[in-house]
Amino acid sequence: MNTPKLAIIVPCYNEELCIKNTAEKLLEVLDYLIKHNKIRRESFIYFVDDGSRDNTWKIMQYLHSQNRIFKGQRFLKNFGNQKAILAGLEAAQRFDCDCAVSIDADLQQDEWAIERFLDKYQKGYDVVCGIRNDRKTDSLFKKLTALAFYKTMNFLGANIPVNHSDFRLVSRKALNIMELYNERYLFLRGFFNDVGLKTAYVHFDVKPRFAGRSKFNLFSLSGMALNGITSYSVVPLRLVSILGFMMTIVAVILGSIAVCHKIFFSHFQHDWVIDFIMSCFFGGIELFCLGSIGEYIGQIFLEVKGRPRYITDLELK
Ligand code: UDP
Ligand code: MG
Repeated sequence: MNTPKLAIIVPCYNEELCIKNTAEKLLEVLDYLIKHNKIRRESFIYFVDDGSRDNTWKIMQYLHSQNRIFKGQRFLKNFGNQKAILAGLEAAQRFDCDCAVSIDADLQQDEWAIERFLDKYQKGYDVVCGIRNDRKTDSLFKKLTALAFYKTMNFLGANIPVNHSDFRLVSRKALNIMELYNERYLFLRGFFNDVGLKTAYVHFDVKPRFAGRSKFNLFSLSGMALNGITSYSVVPLRLVSILGFMMTIVAVILGSIAVCHKIFFSHFQHDWVIDFIMSCFFGGIELFCLGSIGEYIGQIFLEVKGRPRYITDLELK
């Protein structure tokens, strides 16, 4: 059995209230794992400050000055949690780690489940996804939007495990494959489940946020969900074509009926309320379809520009 070098990746956005506690708790886990020979001594904790406007970076610098097991980098501005995790994973690869685990800075996920992740890794799994047992700590709004997201993704054929956030272990092999993907907007949850690597699932109990508030709002959540959909499914585009085709058939049938009425019964019923409702209805469908296509065009637009995925301002090595 080879003892792996592990990196624990922690994306942080305005987490000054959490980060010290998180560092202590993760250090405890790391010490335990090193002591029990589950990971190598050179393993480390890697924070990614996603352009925080509070004291998150200062605390990271302090932690690094106290103990070099804490490393990290700071983004020039806020690039979003997916980019922060990605930057951490790329750093893990640069530091020649055998595997990396990403976990949220508020430690809602059970940090002790990392030991079970490593057991799966030792059994030959390249991706180990943490699955939350329930959503007790989530607001009703979060529960409903999450349910709608997973249902939609499944319906659209994108393979995303239900109740898996970004708490996962990935092996060096997975990191090397990730390097081959040049997408600007890589949706990690979709990517690691779609890529065909041997995947295991570990259940854990979710905890309430240690301090502070969720960093996601309706806008950022729907942005992430739309990115997930447009990155991993073209079904909406097909649905638009099918819908257009079906509407054409309905229009031809209704038009024929109206013409027959005119010819055989010499009367053509005209009701402006019906006209108005119908034009609103079909206008709505058309705009929805245009918007769906627009999402894909937007995605292409952002990808072809080839801008950097994130910009690192400073690094603590
Ligand atoms: N996060 C980030 N950039 C952002 C938003 C969030 O790096 O733009 C981090 C955040 O600091 C946390 C993780 O992503 O470590 C998950 O965020 P949060 O706990 O607020 O999400 P929730 O648990 O409410 O879904
Ligand atoms: Mg959280």
